[in-house]
Amino acid sequence: MSALYYRTVSLGAVLALAGSLGAGFILGAFLPRMVSARSERVVSYEEAVAGPVQGDAGGGSGPVEGDAGGSGPDAEIPLSAEIYDGPGFARSMPIDRKEDWIAWMREGGRGDSPAFMEERWALAGAFVQSGELKRPEDVRAFLLSPREHFVRARNRGYEYADTWLSIGYGATITDPDVVAMMTTTLEIKPGEKVLEIGTGSGYQSAILSYLTTNVYTIEIIEPLFIETDRLYRDLEAAFPSYSVIKRKLGDGYYGWEEYAPFDKILVTCSIDHIPPPLLKQLKTGGVMVLPLGPPGRQYIMEVKKEASEDGGVTLSRRDVYNGMSVRFIPFRNEAGGSYSASP
Ligand code: SAH
Repeated sequence: MSALYYRTVSLGAVLALAGSLGAGFILGAFLPRMVSARSERVVSYEEAVAGPVQGDAGGGSGPVEGDAGGSGPDAEIPLSAEIYDGPGFARSMPIDRKEDWIAWMREGGRGDSPAFMEERWALAGAFVQSGELKRPEDVRAFLLSPREHFVRARNRGYEYADTWLSIGYGATITDPDVVAMMTTTLEIKPGEKVLEIGTGSGYQSAILSYLTTNVYTIEIIEPLFIETDRLYRDLEAAFPSYSVIKRKLGDGYYGWEEYAPFDKILVTCSIDHIPPPLLKQLKTGGVMVLPLGPPGRQYIMEVKKEASEDGGVTLSRRDVYNGMSVRFIPFRNEAGGSYSASP
């Protein structure tokens, strides 16, 4: 959820899914980590950009006032800013053997704690096995991202637990496996423009900054935006890639017109329809990943916007967890209400 509160793979959910989505999904429900190659045509592009088109709604709930948390970044990590040359920087990182990787990290002089490096390596290995990390560049981006700086101070000890954690203001830092899966699904290439909706802790965009130098992120909760903006500034000297993250306080439902179109869009708050403005700001040939579904149960969807033979635009979508539902922090509007399509 970023907010992922929890994931459900209960029998009830499986049966409900089977009933509503057809027997073909049953296997997927029992094999939640297997990535489906199946994709389906959804509504027409014209319908989708005309307005919310699907989903049952439910009461909108705005974020509740939370405690700020506030982690003090470790500002003493030395690292020369010259080392960062965009995603090329990571290319020489060895990822076959832990010892080689750790030696490479030490040489970089970033000063990562040995214990956190061990935990990060273990988590990356688990996600490679589960299929949530696939391309070497995504593995490298994950291995370079110090989750310990984005988890708030009161959650010390859980930095590399595979779970979401509260970051205050009713928001959460997303489970690392879901972050890995969403990142992997986007297949980001150097130079591509990527827009994230829901900056939250800043962890997801930190990962993106190791894949492309064109990262844009929007957060709607002002104190959280300020906190994370300050965190990035504090970390920039040691982690130069964070200086490429362009951030904005505002309602991500409307995207970031000034920098559109985007090659990839990553939504980290849940909604029951694809926001039409985001669909318009996605390049033809682009990919959007979002937690789609009614409040309480979303499926992580990969939406592809493609040119059709007749010169129009088509949309297709794929449930990347193949039937496993997730729960994310709701996509809210400025007034704290919901964007659900039905009342
Ligand atoms: N990517 C973040 C996830 C944070 S939780 C991380 O890994 O830490 C989801 C975030 O979406 C919350 O911070 C919430 O405030 C934000 N959000 C909800 N509605 C939004 C909107 N309309 N525009 C921008 N951000 C929004």
